Amino acid sequence: MKIECFTVGMFHVNTYLVTDEHSGASAIIDTGESQQLAQALGARRDTLNIVAILLTHGHIDHAGALPSLQELWDVPTYLGAKERPLFEALPRQGDWFGMPQLNRPCGRIDHWIEDGATISIGDSKLQYLSTPGHTPGQGCFYDDSDIIVGDTLFAGSIGRTDFPMSNPADMRTSLERLFELPHHLRVHSGHGPVTTLATELKSNPFISFLRGREGVARS
Ligand SMILES: [Zn+2]
Repeated sequence: MKIECFTVGMFHVNTYLVTDEHSGASAIIDTGESQQLAQALGARRDTLNIVAILLTHGHIDHAGALPSLQELWDVPTYLGAKERPLFEALPRQGDWFGMPQLNRPCGRIDHWIEDGATISIGDSKLQYLSTPGHTPGQGCFYDDSDIIVGDTLFAGSIGRTDFPMSNPADMRTSLERLFELPHHLRVHSGHGPVTTLATELKSNPFISFLRGREGVARS
């Protein structure tokens, strides 16, 4: 899959356009909270074949612009089933963060997905790994070479677990499961640069608890 990153909005969130190069079908992963992604992709509307919208989680900076993208592409939209309470809080999430001007209407979710789900994008498939912790239904989408992780893991850090509906114990379990995937996977995070599972396992201070278990010495 070809992966293009668009960093958008006041939270500098990474949103993605993933394309199955054989068929030309694409999916949008996360939306930002502003019109920026709709404008960037809308300008390419004649050349894009968007077949799905996927959300890693329901925070406003990742899911807040869903309605504006669904106006352009009325396509099946996927989000982890456990994220429903947080997603449905979008109209008041701005209040939580002291920015009521960011309260947003919810878009439409067509498929509330569970761990292990498979989503077809043209001839390619993305697997869904549920990684709760940062939020109740945060999840990752991956194939044989790449994984889009939302706010589960960052280069040198992990997602915060001090927000409403976060759960630090769940985060620890989710990180253990994430690192059961092949370590060559390129990691595309919700914020910051691309990394790999292997790189993070060696040097990320927030997952030191995994190193003994994996038998990897800190570099
Ligand atoms: Zn988040």
